[in-house]
Amino acid sequence: MKCPYCGHSDTRVVDSRPSDEGMAIRRRRECPSCGRRFTTYERTQLEPLMVIKRDGRKEPFNPDKLLRGLLLACEKRPVDPEVLKRFAYSFEDQVSGPEIASEEIGLKAMAFLREVDQVAYIRFASVYREFDSVERFIEEIRRLGGVDKEEGNR
Ligand SMILES: [Zn+2]
Repeated sequence: MKCPYCGHSDTRVVDSRPSDEGMAIRRRRECPSCGRRFTTYERTQLEPLMVIKRDGRKEPFNPDKLLRGLLLACEKRPVDPEVLKRFAYSFEDQVSGPEIASEEIGLKAMAFLREVDQVAYIRFASVYREFDSVERFIEEIRRLGGVDKEEGNR
């Protein structure tokens, strides 16, 4: 496994443990060249989850694409990237059935971000929902202010 920081072609596994109730192996790796550490996940690949796009076309689900969107929304926010990685790479496990609409991925990601960081949530939602006016954007932020009250009514 190549080092994502310096590109060194060999890295050492320093820790290896089961994750997601044994459905994945989480490996902590260290680069002997630059000394930095990173995490990889190894998991069984079943039939790929297919995403139904807005225009009706289908493509295989890509956790890296989801992760990029999450990282972008969380830029300069106090969010541990590992939390985002875990969500993106275990996403397929949360979906029952061979297909999912791209809208639903967005909604699930929004629900997740809402728990993680509200600024990131708003950023993600503004891109995802393509707020067509400042008013709608402000409305959404107001709605967030009443989160606790809403939760109590559920
Ligand atoms: Zn390195």
